[in-house]
Amino acid sequence: MFKVLVADDARVMRFATLRILKKLGLEAIEAEDGLQALELFEREKPDLVLIDVQMPGLDGLEVVRRIRQLSAEHWVPVIFLTSMEDDADFTRGIEAGGDDYLTKPVSPVVLEAKIRAMRRLDDMRRELMAVTLELREANERLARLSQQDGLTGLANRRRFDLDLMREMGRARRERRPIALVVADVDYFKAFNDTYGHPAGDDCLRRIAGALRATCRRPGDVAARYGGEEFALILPDTTEEAARQRAIEAMRAVAALEIEHRGSEVARTVTMSFGVAGCVPDAQVVADTLVERADRALYAAKRAGRNMALGFSEIPAGEAAPAIDFDVGDATATAPGIVLH
Ligand code: GH3
Ligand code: MG
Ligand code: MG
Repeated sequence: MFKVLVADDARVMRFATLRILKKLGLEAIEAEDGLQALELFEREKPDLVLIDVQMPGLDGLEVVRRIRQLSAEHWVPVIFLTSMEDDADFTRGIEAGGDDYLTKPVSPVVLEAKIRAMRRLDDMRRELMAVTLELREANERLARLSQQDGLTGLANRRRFDLDLMREMGRARRERRPIALVVADVDYFKAFNDTYGHPAGDDCLRRIAGALRATCRRPGDVAARYGGEEFALILPDTTEEAARQRAIEAMRAVAALEIEHRGSEVARTVTMSFGVAGCVPDAQVVADTLVERADRALYAAKRAGRNMALGFSEIPAGEAAPAIDFDVGDATATAPGIVLH
């Protein structure tokens, strides 16, 4: 119900106003001075304030100034009441935060019209607020979506780039280690060829779930780097520790036991992992770390797939990324961990 606070030190005037409000079917609460008006305003949260300009102690102007400070984001309409028409009073009333002005004794017809106008304004303001809120939520949703991979729900490439930059910056400032794991599904083309593209999509989603589950710390990020390539950003982690995490991820993917008849390394879906870690400085920036992890991944592929290899473990003579992935016999010399 629409609640009106009436503040007037003159009893007769106050009663007259209250009577009109009651006739209009509105709930009215009354204050006989400024302090009481402030108190009631806070406690009762009225929808409209009718307040006398001249009151002993705290006058109406001061009360309204304080009301506006109290409820900066929640606008409550205020109509000043005064005994005589005075342009200066009117100006000061508006400056103090009032919205309109009425001369006493209050005319029922004018008061009703003004209340209607105020309610209309209030409705519009509420609608505007609701729309603004909806808009803000939609924007936030959009921002989230634009950084999320549609298929897997993981961070997408864009978000990965931003997060890696941020974490590299932080690691550099704090002289802390940071590691990057890149992972690629083995023989995924053959998987699609055997089981179809929708099954391939489902496989990627399940892999994403397994990788996400290996991100235990709040700063860890699992991302879909591209097609069937994923990445983990692991702040505060050395390359060696990150390789352990990669092995965990490899086991988590193996535990999914997704059948893969077309794979040359196992009967289920496997992944190869490249790991690189550093304490960033002017030489080692985000791109360097990505390149190193990529090189480790290529080396893992060459060495037989289904393994996790650190950049510092890449065998000599493998400095350049491999071009053809001729496997089959490379597993015997694999320096990484192989799961069978
Ligand atoms: P390797 O072991 O050397 O990584 O071999 P691969 O077959 O996995 O590598 P390749 O790059 O030849 O093939 C990647 C395949 O991944 C080809 C592409 O169709 C598939 N792929 C990429 N993105 C998606 C996707 O969103 N959904 C599905 N189903 N397949 C995808
Ligand atoms: Mg692949
Ligand atoms: Mg690939």
